[in-house]
Amino acid sequence: MPRPISVTISVSALSHNLAVVRRHLDQAAASASGADGTQWVAPSIWAVIKAHSYGHGTAQGVEGFAQADGLAMLDLAEALECRESGFARPILLLEGCFEPTDLELADRYRLTSVVHSREQLDMLAHSRPARPLDVLLKLNSGMNRLGFAPDAYRAAHARALELRDRGIVGSIGRMTHFANADGPAGVAEQLAVFQRVTGDLPGPVSISNSAATLRYPEIALARPGTASWVRPGICLYGASPFADADAASFGLKPAMSLRSRIIATQDLRAGDTVGYGSLFTADAPIRIGVVACGYADGYPRHAGTGTPVVVAGTRTRLLGRVSMDMLAVDLTPVPDAGVDAPVSLWGADGPSVDEVAQAAGTIGYELLCALAKRVPVRTVS
Ligand SMILES: *Cc1c(COP(=O)(O)O)cnc(C)c1O
Repeated sequence: MPRPISVTISVSALSHNLAVVRRHLDQAAASASGADGTQWVAPSIWAVIKAHSYGHGTAQGVEGFAQADGLAMLDLAEALECRESGFARPILLLEGCFEPTDLELADRYRLTSVVHSREQLDMLAHSRPARPLDVLLKLNSGMNRLGFAPDAYRAAHARALELRDRGIVGSIGRMTHFANADGPAGVAEQLAVFQRVTGDLPGPVSISNSAATLRYPEIALARPGTASWVRPGICLYGASPFADADAASFGLKPAMSLRSRIIATQDLRAGDTVGYGSLFTADAPIRIGVVACGYADGYPRHAGTGTPVVVAGTRTRLLGRVSMDMLAVDLTPVPDAGVDAPVSLWGADGPSVDEVAQAAGTIGYELLCALAKRVPVRTVS
């Protein structure tokens, strides 16, 4: 018998979450379109499927987000996989091309590319694509990760226009990325820089990640006849970009459910301890279950005593230190649960991945992306 751990990926949850985001943007467009006759339209959606769809699998992302206006990722191999599996709409490389052969593939597979540096413009200048490459020229509006500095952006844009005249570049969009859309600082400062530097330029605009899309949908709205694209990732997988608002409060559904079973139980006396380092000590007799799931499966080792776990439908808590292949849970609230009892580590019938992440001092993103290869995947519609 195989080890009883598995992960289930729900394609319908992915589709549901995309529809939730679309409705959210449609509602923002409807309420912004004023009685004074100003019209706003909802942006198009790049579904971000980098890191193998945040650990859910590239193929699952392509299927679940079949209704997305485009797909976005960093890895060229993932982009080719999407195109070869039949996705015909735009595919965006979020970090652009790393070397000249990437440009050849971007050309052959009709990809769209971020251009964030002078080196990438140079690479384009030396390329001879069969078709002009659509690009998003990225502004560093304050995150200081990728993008042209505000005082270098207009010159970069002028170079992109020259490349367009030479038939190397097609449409030229403008893009930036927010550092604090999920927190109290918000987007105002970076948005002001973006408007000041690029506001009068034509072409598609793309600024919002999940947090900005959910919290500030109005900033991504477009005037009729212009193009705007949001780039949500985490929310499409049913996890939250916010520390102070859970995914369920937006109507999002977890697409990844990590489940296992109890493989042993132990009856502890007062004073007995659990696991490596003896980090948990029973202060009274207690029954514990040993679950086939550990950090080698992607469960965070930093999750300590008290991290929520669901056993046979009842919420309980993790005890002691997570091992490589096992972890221990308190069976006090589930006296009937024994060997083989089902355990939900996170997902549809468990705690949210964000709760587990919070208990481990990290974010749901990291846990989803870090799911280990050894965990068998079941994909359900
Ligand atoms: C990862 C990423 C996103 C999506 O971010 P989420 O917080 O998961 O919504 C959007 N844009 C860029 C450039 C990214 O790298």
